[in-house]
Amino acid sequence: MYVIDLTHYLDSKGAIAPNRGPARKMADFLTAVVAHASDFDRSDDAPGPVCFKCRKRDQRVVETGITEDDVVVWRCPACGTEGQISNWQGTFWDLSQGTPPS
Ligand SMILES: [Zn+2]
Repeated sequence: MYVIDLTHYLDSKGAIAPNRGPARKMADFLTAVVAHASDFDRSDDAPGPVCFKCRKRDQRVVETGITEDDVVVWRCPACGTEGQISNWQGTFWDLSQGTPPS
């Protein structure tokens, strides 16, 4: 079980901090999970982000959700990897207030 504080992956401007390597891959995955979980307008069959653990095998996507105490959770049905993400509210990937009109 991964327990993540999203702010550890962001710089002072709120952008993804790691530039490369495993930390960057992890940050890309975590922000995609937050965007997927917090987008209440998306259709139910919109696929989740590709699992960072077994993506090379067959592009398995994870299931996402938000708990009652506002923690974003994910779980990969293929490999069983799961985690929870806190401090995601108010980041660029928090879509829970709706997407701004373009
Ligand atoms: Zn997986």
